[in-house]
Amino acid sequence: MAQQSGGQIDTVMQEARLFPPPAEFAAAARIGSLEAYQEMWDEAEADIEGFWGRLATEELHWFKPFTKVLDWKSPFAKWFVGGKTNACYNCVDVHLGTPRQNKAAIIWEGEPGDQRTLTYQQLHGEVSKFANVLLGQGVKAGDVVSIYMPMVPELVVAMLACARIGAVHSVIFGGFSSEAIADRNNDARAKLQITADGGWRRGSILPLKETVDEALKKSPTIEKCIVVRRTGTDVNMTPGRDFWYDELMDAAAAECPAAELDSEHPLYILYTSGSTGKPKGIKHTTAGYSLFTKMTTRWVFDLRDEDVYWCTADCGWVTGHSYLVYGPLANGATVLMYDGAPNWPDEGRFWEMIERHRVSIFYTAPTAIRSFIKWGDHWVDEHDLSSLRLLGTVGEGINPEAWMWYHRKIGRERCPIVDTWWQTETGGIMMTPLPGAIPTKPGSCTKPLPGIVPEIVDGNGKPVAPNHGGMLVISKPWPGMLRGIWGDDERYKEQYWTRVPGKYLCGDNARQDDDGYYWIMGRIDDVLNVAGHRLSTIEIESALVSHPKVAEAAAVGRPHEVKGEAVAVFVVLRGATASEALKEELKKHVRKEIGALAVPDDIRFTQTLPKTRSGKIMRRLLRDIASGKAEVGDTTTLEDFGVLAKLRENEE
Ligand code: ATP
Ligand code: MG
Repeated sequence: MAQQSGGQIDTVMQEARLFPPPAEFAAAARIGSLEAYQEMWDEAEADIEGFWGRLATEELHWFKPFTKVLDWKSPFAKWFVGGKTNACYNCVDVHLGTPRQNKAAIIWEGEPGDQRTLTYQQLHGEVSKFANVLLGQGVKAGDVVSIYMPMVPELVVAMLACARIGAVHSVIFGGFSSEAIADRNNDARAKLQITADGGWRRGSILPLKETVDEALKKSPTIEKCIVVRRTGTDVNMTPGRDFWYDELMDAAAAECPAAELDSEHPLYILYTSGSTGKPKGIKHTTAGYSLFTKMTTRWVFDLRDEDVYWCTADCGWVTGHSYLVYGPLANGATVLMYDGAPNWPDEGRFWEMIERHRVSIFYTAPTAIRSFIKWGDHWVDEHDLSSLRLLGTVGEGINPEAWMWYHRKIGRERCPIVDTWWQTETGGIMMTPLPGAIPTKPGSCTKPLPGIVPEIVDGNGKPVAPNHGGMLVISKPWPGMLRGIWGDDERYKEQYWTRVPGKYLCGDNARQDDDGYYWIMGRIDDVLNVAGHRLSTIEIESALVSHPKVAEAAAVGRPHEVKGEAVAVFVVLRGATASEALKEELKKHVRKEIGALAVPDDIRFTQTLPKTRSGKIMRRLLRDIASGKAEVGDTTTLEDFGVLAKLRENEE
């Protein structure tokens, strides 16, 4: 299989466009030039502990100061040893008694159009009360609380209340099945469940409590369940086990001091998206994660008090944890939170919301951008997007043509785009163009943030030369790094630290260009072996997406007697009709863009691609289909099971 051979990867993509930071943006930015960035990165690299130690002292509240910055017994890290702090305190309490006390922390909007705003002071009140509710239900520091909720403010309140008392939250995306909830509850040994009666999705109600009832039949460690009223749906309440959130809140005391927790006290468990296999329960801890998300939010989004910051990610994913909750709130930001679909009541919802709320920073995923492109420009053109000053992407690589659309249509060629590369495991953004400092290239996550030291190595762990692809590793520990896979130290060592000893193996391939820019090339497992060449998925896909009739593409390898592997691509069209002639046209286009080697052997047109619930293309399933396998791998995180059947029907 492809992942067995770990040699270099050939690059075929050519992308020469360069966009310097807009002068006006750079002039006002915190990090406003390439030199300023380089100086900061060099300083951090020369003294990693000094760099993070200074920031931790300045930026976090300490009940008790730490005595040692880093205790590194590879692969186990302890950051800010001996210190006592609290992630909730750093997000909420620190703003009380400052001019931010009565500032909007969360501006929330539900799909039906209902709205609520919570100031920092109000958020503090809600969180303190709910922390008392949890304590009253017998939750203690170190206990795991499972959260399965729509994107309502109570979800953020629940996360922060857990952090306040040292309970460990495990947020499960509100679209998952009862089996997926039960699996996660059992793996984490969760003690209490929080959910809602229902959630709104495209005008219908998702029966969240009903799904939880099923899950709890198979979650023996869960003792209690707290239910938020959201849709007013009739639900079964099991006496002695199920309680209404509002009733418990009414009875709870207002004051609840934040627990003084050890720096390494576990903050949360979060399961990965499952793009490459069965999801892993990633563990993050208190101080290092708080510092890393706070600093990266400030650097990357160049956040100001007057910004309206909108991250469209669900709190069921790491982006929702780091860049909707912990990072922005620690910085005292005003966060827009939306609970609903981007195409309800119509495909203009996001742009209408940006116009109405005067959103200035917008952070979303390439999968969403590809949908916007498919839906048509007129949805965007109708709205005033002049409040926007910065755009971001996360979750997958962005094809250069999709980047250009985002730049022109949404950013109106005025807003820098931060393409942020990171993972559930890294806790926060690792590589991205700092918007006032680093010129962007469409499709490149550009450079590492200060304190992050990446390397690209071959199968023997040797660095590869510029313009050759290899495995991306991180060679120095960083405060936001995962502290393990929940309850499975062996798997943690095996998965991330064994193949390239002493370095963090992220599982992605990348290359560096002549300017030192990083280009993520896709997953190590997804490399294609064609006639002795190792090709990356994203380069072939981007070549296809650069054709005006293509909205989305996925490239995989399938066994081929002569070439080793043949290139099979799955293509979603942009309003065009599928035909043999179009297949030939696309092959020609790929040959012209990136060369004969990468020309697809099979082209299959499809309406949709199999994706994880966080919207990432699941290439491993496509690989199984392309090679005609009867069974495909783990599908627990697949968004739409119908897609697999449809793809099989299309088989030639
Ligand atoms: P699993 O580990 O279970 O397979 P996953 O890797 O999809 O799931 P996440 O942690 O949500 O789970 O995703 C991280 C991955 O997403 C990265 O390893 C990378 O492959 C991809 N990714 C995220 N941001 C970017 C980006 N800006 N450019 C390219 N790839 C990205
Ligand atoms: Mg992963």
